[in-house]
Amino acid sequence: MSTGFFLEDRATESHPAAAPATEPLLPVESVSPHHRHRLRPLEGKPVGTLLVHEIYRSLQGESTFAGLPCVFVRLTACHLRCNYCDTPHAFAQGVILGLDEVVARALELGDDLVEITGGEPLLQPEVYPLMTRLADAGKTVLLETSGAIDIAAVDPRVRVILDIKTPGSGEVEANVWSNLARLKPVDEVKFVVCDRADFDWAGAIVRAQRLADRCPVLFSAAFGQVNPTDLAGWILEARLPVRLQLQQHKILWDPNARGV
Ligand code: SF4
Repeated sequence: MSTGFFLEDRATESHPAAAPATEPLLPVESVSPHHRHRLRPLEGKPVGTLLVHEIYRSLQGESTFAGLPCVFVRLTACHLRCNYCDTPHAFAQGVILGLDEVVARALELGDDLVEITGGEPLLQPEVYPLMTRLADAGKTVLLETSGAIDIAAVDPRVRVILDIKTPGSGEVEANVWSNLARLKPVDEVKFVVCDRADFDWAGAIVRAQRLADRCPVLFSAAFGQVNPTDLAGWILEARLPVRLQLQQHKILWDPNARGV
């Protein structure tokens, strides 16, 4: 099922200060100073490369594309630490690949749908030409992003699946609220709900920002924290125009499995 690979853990390596000519710019403007040490796995990464955690194909488990075959390109590193995170292995483990090689590996897996995910994929500048080249190749490109990095530079052909971090995530302060004004009708907004208070908070934002008028809005139950049946009842009771999202891959396969 998976063609993923897991190589070195760059957080445990020592990285000498990189020469300016080979050090890519990081979008540090979106990253608070006390989170910047979490970008250490990207230090010294040569320009024109990506630190890639895994590239594999599976069924899309989330979003309105759930159930469709999809190629996943999971990039390494994240500046957040959501308490429900199911990909902490992507915080530091990865292999450096040239942009051309990442494009080639994604295309050779053959599916029409490609998702760029992480970690937080927008931390690596080369992700922008990666998405553009995949769109140029005729792929439907999804970007799964934390909502904590400005999405302004994302190719408009890319369908952004934008998280809004709730108080229960522990990362609500990281939301870049100006991203809401950039949403396109083909984008999607996702709230991972950790408890009833999160649900009420998210519902208030959906109504105040009229999010459902802009694009699909997804509510997902934090795995192991909220019963999806309870969340379904809350959505019905509140008459919210949102879509319940089940993490299909966790139903089909081991919830802790990688590369699915
Ligand atoms: S933004 Fe995503 S990858 Fe980063 S800590 Fe949160 S859930 Fe994990």
